[in-house]
Amino acid sequence: MGKTARNFVVATTIAAVVYAGATGTFGDIHILHDPDNIYNDRTLTITEEEKEALMNSLESELGYDVAAEKEDDYLLLSAIVENNNLSEDEKAYFYDFGEMFYENPYLDREKAYHNLKNVSINYNATRDYNEWYVSGSYDYKNNEIKIFDDSEAVRGHEIIHCIFNVRPEHLDNYFIEGMTELLYNEYFEDIPFVEVNSYPFEISAVKMLCDVCGSDVVLKAYSESSMKPIIDELANYSSREDAKHNLDLLNDVFVVRSDNQVVTHYTDYDDMLDYLEKILINKYGEGGFEHNSFKYNKSLFMNLFYDNSLDRYLDIIENTGIGTKAYFSNKLKEDYNYFHIEPCDYTFSYENPVFQKVQN
Ligand SMILES: [Zn+2]
Repeated sequence: MGKTARNFVVATTIAAVVYAGATGTFGDIHILHDPDNIYNDRTLTITEEEKEALMNSLESELGYDVAAEKEDDYLLLSAIVENNNLSEDEKAYFYDFGEMFYENPYLDREKAYHNLKNVSINYNATRDYNEWYVSGSYDYKNNEIKIFDDSEAVRGHEIIHCIFNVRPEHLDNYFIEGMTELLYNEYFEDIPFVEVNSYPFEISAVKMLCDVCGSDVVLKAYSESSMKPIIDELANYSSREDAKHNLDLLNDVFVVRSDNQVVTHYTDYDDMLDYLEKILINKYGEGGFEHNSFKYNKSLFMNLFYDNSLDRYLDIIENTGIGTKAYFSNKLKEDYNYFHIEPCDYTFSYENPVFQKVQN
């Protein structure tokens, strides 16, 4: 990496036009969001000299040297350096996201660069009618993070929304929130596997999909704002119609519960969980780490069917233990690359802090 100068990009653009002309469609031609953009999709568009200048200002801001093989990805952080809407204190929150950029081959770096360069944080926003229960939100149309109850976890979650800029019309809400919170927990939480801060059921659903389809496929879907990679993977083991139908059912559970409706058609949901489990068994066999992980995540997820879902969820973690498996963070995977259960030495409450360690 790092040898990509502007003339290379011109060459690939011409190739794209020829291809589009030959197939009679211009729908795939890529237009830069911003004339100052240094990325075209995942490719650097700047010269070596421009890159060196950006790296120098980034490194003086960060206070450390960035490894040469990571330069292309760390340049995303230079968007933060150049962002005139953020204070120095606010910028500091963003600088820790380098590993998350570097480890995601599917991230639309062009979009991320643009968003990071222009995002602003608003601490005085008023809640919209659908925001009464949230601590923060990301307005993807105006590229603005709104903080209602400030904390590091809230900022981190909203910054991830900003980086990926996943639009709710492209992905189901449970999937967006589950992935966003899971990424935050894996890269930043001191206690990463106890999903009790926000969106615990969304996270258990995303983890089930990771167990069945592979976390790489799920990360691709989230990064590209499309369920297609997940549908494609499921369609290797079933019809596409079945894949889509069962993913719709998974979303349906969250839609029903967010309306505070009582879950009535259990049979459909049971069939959906069976569908996913059968594909997993087909791929990995029964009783292995993958299957145990799926069963654990399913046991957490299924509590969503009941009125006292959070109590039941916490009971499982307290009594069965904490399922530990890292899906995305390479650092976390060093120690938690396969599923196992660790005894839970926390007690939980609805008050803040949500959980307290019983012993050290
Ligand atoms: Zn969110």
